Amino acid sequence: MSVSSGSARYWNGRLKNVNCRCGKRAGIRISESAENPNRPYYFCRDNVCGSFRGWCEPVNQSSTPSSGSINVDEGWKMLEKVIEDIAKMKNDMKKMKEEQRATRNEIANIRGIMCQLRTIYIVLIFIVVGVAMKVI
Ligand SMILES: [Zn+2]
Repeated sequence: MSVSSGSARYWNGRLKNVNCRCGKRAGIRISESAENPNRPYYFCRDNVCGSFRGWCEPVNQSSTPSSGSINVDEGWKMLEKVIEDIAKMKNDMKKMKEEQRATRNEIANIRGIMCQLRTIYIVLIFIVVGVAMKVI
């Protein structure tokens, strides 16, 4: 037995049910014509839409993936995106750390100024008290 048709290679023996124009499930018959021998086709069961309702297309499994699965290509794309996101996050963390350091420096500066102000304040009090003592 030999299979001459190229499309036979992709044929995995699965057919899809389709609805006829009249709304009912179309039937499936095998063509016996010279041009398309052994080719399955749809027909109207009630024969109200004509006997031929189109050729059956083989169900390609890869073209109808189940919703839960992802193909390898998509997987790689997702992985690349995740790596990109991690790189971005690292960059953001770096920026935040730099900002934190700057903020810390500012706080140190403010503390230094506060310390100086306190010293000046204490000196001022001593002077005032000293002056007051002299006056009394
Ligand atoms: Zn019909």
